[in-house]
Amino acid sequence: MNKTKLFTVLLLCTLLSGLFSGCQSVDLSPAENNISSSETAAPSAQGADSDGLLKVEYIDVGQADSILISTPTDEHMLIDAGAAESNDANPIEKALEAQNIDRLDVVVATHPHYDHIGRMDYVIENYDIDNFYLPDVEGNYTSATYENMLEELEEYNVNTIYPSAPEEFTLGEAKCEILSPLENQERDCNEYSIVLRMTYGDNTFLFTGDAGRQSEYNMIDRGFDLSADVLKVGHHGSAYSSTREFLDEVRPEYAVISCGEGNSYGHPHDETMDRLRGIKTYITKDVGDIYITSDGENLSVYTENEGAPQSGEYESAANPTDEAEEENAVTPENSFVGNKNSKVVHSADCGSLPKEENRVYFSSLDEAEAAGYRGHSCVG
Ligand SMILES: [Zn+2]
Ligand SMILES: [Zn+2]
Repeated sequence: MNKTKLFTVLLLCTLLSGLFSGCQSVDLSPAENNISSSETAAPSAQGADSDGLLKVEYIDVGQADSILISTPTDEHMLIDAGAAESNDANPIEKALEAQNIDRLDVVVATHPHYDHIGRMDYVIENYDIDNFYLPDVEGNYTSATYENMLEELEEYNVNTIYPSAPEEFTLGEAKCEILSPLENQERDCNEYSIVLRMTYGDNTFLFTGDAGRQSEYNMIDRGFDLSADVLKVGHHGSAYSSTREFLDEVRPEYAVISCGEGNSYGHPHDETMDRLRGIKTYITKDVGDIYITSDGENLSVYTENEGAPQSGEYESAANPTDEAEEENAVTPENSFVGNKNSKVVHSADCGSLPKEENRVYFSSLDEAEAAGYRGHSCVG
């Protein structure tokens, strides 16, 4: 069925449900899930079909990412599927079940790191998926989880799409632009992250996976419109994402960081929180699941646990001290420097660091190893 027909059928279904209550309405009300509001009053307990809200749920999956988007016309998109720490009561499964979802129009695996595709097996096995977007990592990355995912996509005959920016698709009445990855770029696995900008009426959401500064600068260089009301902060709040230049383009009202309590990377990094000053920032490890709804004009934010956003005073990039801060962000205590070519990682105070243009920065050895780097003798 093509998208136009699908939309017509869904529209018809929505209209008929008003007359006969024949179609099952999906209850998206955070109030039903015992969610307390930290921004505005909770929406009515009626289903999304009748209240016309687009709902974005940033699922608390610990040190991982998973975001579920549902349109008022009952289309669903899942961006990433967390890690597979526990098969019991997995939060992604719970989120899908809570909305009675039986099919997913779009699934996006932003990039093949474990903390983004850990439960894709469950998603592929249990849901009809129309289109599955994933980056073409061109043989630069592999893992057992990733290979299994590729095998399952084939086994279940899922339509896979390897996008190359700029591209776009629609999810109901929401427009989704793919802004990254660009073609032919040598990069670290995180920099393959699919970056999506979703527009619904006057509201815009930016989803960045683990994109880092290289992707951010590429998108700026290409002149893409990056402005968004809500930013899913790149790479769990790592200091090597969310550059000031990027934030100045996005200018979000709200920021969401997905990371786990006591994670070994120290996410979110202080440098990132500094740069996010003045932006209402919600962190899953502090507030649990985060729900943002849009009626096409206004946004409402709800969190699982009562939790106010962190915020402060955001200084624009015009501040001359910012440049110096940026340079000082890498310190011997908290960073590791990889060589993009040799895939060897050094401690930042090592005597034989790679040339500036070949460097890639990590906040921990774990992070470097997860990206396929092996340690130089300087890191023991
Ligand atoms: Zn990640
Ligand atoms: Zn990653």
